[in-house]
Amino acid sequence: MQANKYTAISKFFKKYGYWVGLGLSIAVLIMVVTLAVVNKPAPMEDENFGPVNTDTVTFTNPVTQLDTLKTYSNSALQYNSTLNLWQAHKAVDFAAEEGTEVYAVMDGKVTEVTYNYLMGNIVKLDIGGGITVVYASLASDVPVKAGDEVKKGSVIGKVSNTAKSEANDGPHLHLEVLLNGELVDPALYLDISEK
Ligand SMILES: [Zn+2]
Repeated sequence: MQANKYTAISKFFKKYGYWVGLGLSIAVLIMVVTLAVVNKPAPMEDENFGPVNTDTVTFTNPVTQLDTLKTYSNSALQYNSTLNLWQAHKAVDFAAEEGTEVYAVMDGKVTEVTYNYLMGNIVKLDIGGGITVVYASLASDVPVKAGDEVKKGSVIGKVSNTAKSEANDGPHLHLEVLLNGELVDPALYLDISEK
């Protein structure tokens, strides 16, 4: 019986061995291809600091109410009543009450928290893609420090009147946007047409 059984199996393989082998090979091939596809490395995710397409970057409002006090001008001169002179204003100023919360316009990393007499307390936020957002005229109790990673919409300061060069304008946020080191119009990234 046993001998007959093995003989039968042997006969079977002699007759169909080629097809069994071929079938197994195909099965293994399909498995390898499937695994290769499944394990394909995921595309690079641009979390906070990956490449940002500047055409599609949209800031969340840096203050809840965008009450534009002074717009951006690259070369056109605007009157600065505090300094009594005409100057370009490569920033947008938003009037707001003293203490109004100021928000991170995008996810980013705080690169600098500084103070200078002319621009007051300043927070610089690197949001990737070559874009740095500069918040000036902030109150002195800045809740973030250099190196902090912040989320879009989180509080990074409060409006004040610490920019002595714009003191006559009252409490406001002076917002600058640097694209690859050049001061560009923040309105490119914000919808300030409607208030
Ligand atoms: Zn300003």
